[in-house]
Formats: sequence, structure tokens, C-alpha cells
Amino acid sequence: MELIYPSRCYCCQSVLTRKGQVVCTDCLAKVHYLQSPLCSCCGREFPDSSGTDHLCGFCLRQLPVYDRAQGVVRYEEPVSHLLHRLKYAADTSTLPALAQVIEPFVHDLAQEFQSAHDRIVPVPLFPARLKKRGLNQSLLLARIFFPKAGDALLVDSIVRTRDTPPQTTLDGDARRKNLRSAFAVRHPAAVQGRRIFLIDDVFTTGTTASECAKALLAAGAAGIYVVTVARVAG
Ligand SMILES: [Zn+2]
Ligand SMILES: [Zn+2]
Repeated sequence: MELIYPSRCYCCQSVLTRKGQVVCTDCLAKVHYLQSPLCSCCGREFPDSSGTDHLCGFCLRQLPVYDRAQGVVRYEEPVSHLLHRLKYAADTSTLPALAQVIEPFVHDLAQEFQSAHDRIVPVPLFPARLKKRGLNQSLLLARIFFPKAGDALLVDSIVRTRDTPPQTTLDGDARRKNLRSAFAVRHPAAVQGRRIFLIDDVFTTGTTASECAKALLAAGAAGIYVVTVARVAG
């Protein structure tokens, strides 16, 4: 079958040469993995490629409510396309490709995670939006980030209390207003005293992460580590 219908790269359709691959080596080479030096809090890339992680100017002025945010790759092609397909077309066939892209990071994350103390929380969607979209991309991505999550993955501990326009349609100040008090923790006991790994698809300005973090911290969470597949540059 492989000879008649060879496996093709999910992104560029070229014939795959290595077994188990979903994305070809050329496409993977285009993926920009975020590497130190990064902001030790918000995960921002520094233009200078030497040195160690340190706080960026934004975080020095005002420290975010979360402890740390980290994206795996820069938000650009081909990953931006995969995430867009997943989010807006409910195309779950992108998941194996995304899993291959974040695979190098999954191992490091597993080292960091202590299932006895830590919990995983995907950023929730408003129920009506979830129904319309058919999936919550953050939950699916959380399962890729933590394949052995088990009960540590909390699927309904935090909820979106009102429907809000997609953040992509707004800018800075409007983003913050849009999401203010949009999240509530439904089961505080599940997060109390826990370090939370908060999972989302893309980190843009950090407003979504901050608003979720505020709700979780108010409910007694011990700390927030934001993990996203991609981070918008700048
Ligand atoms: Zn390719
Ligand atoms: Zn920063």
C-alpha cells in the first residue's frame, strides 16, 4: 500500500521518507523553535541570540500574575496554519502533525511535571462556542502535551462565564476589557494549593492567560505555568 499510496507530508504533500513521520524534514526545518534567551516570565524572544533568560522590559515594569509562560514555537507557517485548521475548522487530522512539532518539548515538560502536586487546566471555551466549534483545541493540545496526564488533567474546573468576541478581532486595551472576569473556577478544591499548567494554543498578548490565572489564583492555586504551542513574536 505504501508503494501505491505513499504517505505524504501533512503540510506540503511531499512524499515522506521516514517511517512514523507526519511532517517532512523540510517543513520541520522551517519551524522556528523558541530558544534562550527568552523572558524568564512571559517567554518573549529577545532579538539578541546570546545570553541567558532574563526579565523583559514589559515584565520588569509590571510582573504578570502567572509565574511563567512558554511557547514551543514562533507563531508562523506551517504551525500557524495547523492551529488555525484545528481551531476554526475542527480539523483534528492536524493533531498528529502538531504532536510531531511539539514532541521535543513534551519530554522536558514531563520532567517538570509532578503529578502528585501539579494539575493541568486547558483554557475553556464558552459552552455555546464549544457546541458550535465541536471541540476545545486547548483540551486536545493538553492531551498531546501530557500523554500520561490521567486525573491530573482537569477538564471542567474552570469555565468561561460569558461569551466574548475572539481576541484576534481586538487590540490591547479592548482585549483586556473583553476578557475581564470572563473566567470562574467551578471546583476550587481541585486547584487549591496546586501548581497549574495552563494550556492554550497560542500566546498573543497574554491577556487570556492572565485572566485565567487570576481566577485560578483567587481560587487558591499555588502558581501558574502557561504552556502554549506557539507564541506570537514581539
Ligand atoms: Zn513538508
Ligand atoms: Zn516578559
